[in-house]
Amino acid sequence: MNIEEHELVPRGVCPACLKPIDRYKIIIVKEFPCPHCHQLVGTSILFRVFKRLLTTGLAVTSAFFSGLPLIASIVVGVVLWFVLNFFYVWVVSLVRPRLELFRGKDEDFQTLNLGK
Ligand SMILES: [Zn+2]
Repeated sequence: MNIEEHELVPRGVCPACLKPIDRYKIIIVKEFPCPHCHQLVGTSILFRVFKRLLTTGLAVTSAFFSGLPLIASIVVGVVLWFVLNFFYVWVVSLVRPRLELFRGKDEDFQTLNLGK
């Protein structure tokens, strides 16, 4: 990931053609073609990992400390997870996420140093 290049692109703007993308057309959870230049763009993998950790962590923690029986707390956890995901996507769509060119999974793992 080139940090300097990344910083130059404002939120919600296509990194390929530098045109702003309507927030209703931004798909947060996966890559999508830019409506202007049709390049595949998406939110960063770190962004998505953070979302997953936050929503799963909050849901599991809340269910664990709810004091409900196991089955009930699993149901509560799953429902919370859905609600949190929905809420997160909604909040992010309001502030507009930073977008980067989609480069495929292999490269994403290399930038995170997770691949071996
Ligand atoms: Zn574009």
